Amino acid sequence: MEDYYALLGVGRDADQGEIKRAFRKLARETHPDANPDDPHAEERFRKVAQAYEVLSDPNRRAAYDRGGDFDMSDLFSSFAGIDDLLSRFFGSAGGFGGFPFGGQTVGPAQGSDVGVRVEISLADAAAGIEREVSYRTAVACDTCQGSGAAPGVPLETCDRCGGQGSVRLTRQTLLGTTMTIAPCDRCRGRGRVITDPCDTCSGVGSMAGERTMVIEIPAGIEDGARLRVPGKGAAGEPGGRPGDLYVEVRVAPDDRFERHGPDLIHRLHVGLAEATLGTSRAVPLVEGDDYTLDIPAGTQPGSVFKLARMGMPRMRRRGRGDLLVEVIVDVPTRLTAEQESALRSYARATEEDPTPPKRRRRGA
Ligand code: ZN
Ligand code: ZN
Repeated sequence: MEDYYALLGVGRDADQGEIKRAFRKLARETHPDANPDDPHAEERFRKVAQAYEVLSDPNRRAAYDRGGDFDMSDLFSSFAGIDDLLSRFFGSAGGFGGFPFGGQTVGPAQGSDVGVRVEISLADAAAGIEREVSYRTAVACDTCQGSGAAPGVPLETCDRCGGQGSVRLTRQTLLGTTMTIAPCDRCRGRGRVITDPCDTCSGVGSMAGERTMVIEIPAGIEDGARLRVPGKGAAGEPGGRPGDLYVEVRVAPDDRFERHGPDLIHRLHVGLAEATLGTSRAVPLVEGDDYTLDIPAGTQPGSVFKLARMGMPRMRRRGRGDLLVEVIVDVPTRLTAEQESALRSYARATEEDPTPPKRRRRGA
């Protein structure tokens, strides 16, 4: 008889925790899927699994320690015993603790994600706002609460996979038998089947419907940002997760401001005399109100005044950007006779040499 303690690499006095840890490690190392090129991998794996099956059960272990005989053929007549062992050990059928075990996902299909778009003003983006969105999507059936089964009629354990949700597929190859695990096609990985489908949804578990959600849009959101609302997308298959809702936020342009991340630029138009002699002007702030900005005498075109922390808030962070006020000096393009006369006397005083006045038509 095999020395099961030696196979697992533990002492005869090992406790259950040690045995479990040793098996988990060996199972990963020796699993046939991890050793596709080793024709003996399957046999080694089988022995390790047998050793664990015996030593992890106190009654069988005691019998083994006494050198007693017990019939294991019922346990290990097929790989099914090992599948069951692994699924019990690793917690889920087919799931192998992150190890690609058969490589297929088990389970009912998840609902798809749904996208909606909302448009808000720049002022709303600065303050943060709640918005109600409505969208059509698959919603869980009211009658069966998404289970797909007629109310009061319990689901039955799937007879193809015995409730595991997965089936083993064995294949004969030149190297012997190989085994993979695939989702059960009868219950689609759910482990249970509907015997009496819900009348309302014919067992689908969902139907087209409309959903309304209030979305909290955080202050400082950028144009084009997407907010994810988990679980508010389309309903999944019975037993499957719903998809997520993605809200794309468009921030409408505001012609008073140009946005650069958290900073805003406002272009302030002043006249020639105002730039030269100085003035005081109201500058709009994004959330309303004005700021009175003093433009000192001799301000040059293109000068920028920085109003610190009067820009956009930073999303989900402290602080705000700045409001940059760029001064545009408007050079007049059309003058009245009186304005022209004043400007020409200014030119004489500063010894500038402007183009002489055009000949005016008589009577003009
Ligand atoms: Zn239903
Ligand atoms: Zn099944």
